[in-house]
Amino acid sequence: HSAWQGTQAVPADPILGLVAAFKADAAPRKVNLAQGAFRTDEGLPLVLPSVVEAERRVSSALASGAIDKEYLPIEGDATFRTLSAKLIFGDESAALAEGRCATLQTLSGTGAVSVAAAALCRMAGARTIHVPDPSWGNHGHIFRSAGLEVQNYAYLDHRTGTTLDFDGMRAALSGLPRGSVVLLHACAHNPTGIDPSGEQWQELAALFAGRGLVALFDSAYQGYASGDLDADAASVRAFEAAGVLPVACQSYAKSLGLYGERIGAVNFVCASREEAEAVLSTVKQTIVRPAYSSPPLHGARLAAEALAPSTASVSAPAGGSTPLSPRRQVLGDAALFAQWRGELRGMANRVHRMRVLLADALRAEGAPSPDGGDWGHVVDQIGMFAYTGLSASHVDSLRERRHVYLTRDGRMSMAAMKPADIEYVARAVRSVLA
Ligand code: PLP
Repeated sequence: HSAWQGTQAVPADPILGLVAAFKADAAPRKVNLAQGAFRTDEGLPLVLPSVVEAERRVSSALASGAIDKEYLPIEGDATFRTLSAKLIFGDESAALAEGRCATLQTLSGTGAVSVAAAALCRMAGARTIHVPDPSWGNHGHIFRSAGLEVQNYAYLDHRTGTTLDFDGMRAALSGLPRGSVVLLHACAHNPTGIDPSGEQWQELAALFAGRGLVALFDSAYQGYASGDLDADAASVRAFEAAGVLPVACQSYAKSLGLYGERIGAVNFVCASREEAEAVLSTVKQTIVRPAYSSPPLHGARLAAEALAPSTASVSAPAGGSTPLSPRRQVLGDAALFAQWRGELRGMANRVHRMRVLLADALRAEGAPSPDGGDWGHVVDQIGMFAYTGLSASHVDSLRERRHVYLTRDGRMSMAAMKPADIEYVARAVRSVLA
């Protein structure tokens, strides 16, 4: 007898299914623009030089016995938590100055959203979460698996397919009951690459404050979207400044290229230091401890190296039981932080260059833009993806006839684009549109 005899196979994740189909495609020329991972101009994965340096420092500290491989506390590495909270909320944050933020190291961005979802459901009494239409595919799975009902609010303007429906978004959010939980992408909205403007964020912050909505920010691209760590956190900071008490989820998968290390954080901004301590202890004991006890060590060490503007500015986080121990002093310095910021700009610039080249090539080919415009949206959108406006049948033709792979919503990874493929892709797009 098998305990599993009633189990039915579940269809593969559509993106991973495309990856498999791409691998199996025997065509001499094929282009994979389906997956969201940064590639160099040569199409290779990138390990950031600042991360290589951080690895070197961690290795040498291990070799000399200065650090060890003991368990981290349930909430994660104290230095990393402090630096991570500072990175997103900034030096001016009142919540950080007043010790009202409970920060936990998590299993990358997915783990952060998942811990936040469990906390909202079990501790804040949330039943429903409002998610933009469309959103990152995994959001629905994470929230439903935590026990929340998922509802969509207007985001993409379906009339153009390539712009923000801000009026629709504002109207939808204004109609929600007080205390409703709303997911926002802090920057580089996935899959659309379309963000509210600075002014629109201010307006949303006032709306959330006025209507008592709970903001759950998913920040998976800080520094990687615009190349500027502060600009990409402006949304979260505007909410905090407006008196909203946001929950902010962070991922270092893209910004540090630490995809497989699973390093991220979740931050609960609270009304007081006491509340932050209560939230931290409850999340630790009732959510993290039974799920995985404590997070992994290595990614936190690498991130703490790269994120440290200076060791002097690091103080213990709210409720942090672990003060900075001398055994952890393999910390980064201003030079490594500056180097990382330069590398972030380099990644963002490369993606932007691909956007400009592709839009130029599409215009040169005379390909008609699906939104009736001149492909300006490919340049204006931000983050890893271009939301092209191509339909599912266009995407199918691209794959079947030209061996160019996109997700069926017309999302094209600009982070994976190679200069050498631009002309081929533009010609392929024209051929399915014409
Ligand atoms: N949230 C969004 C919007 C994302 O696009 C991603 C990655 O694609 C993630 C979260 C989480 O990724 P990870 O769990 O690898 O940090």
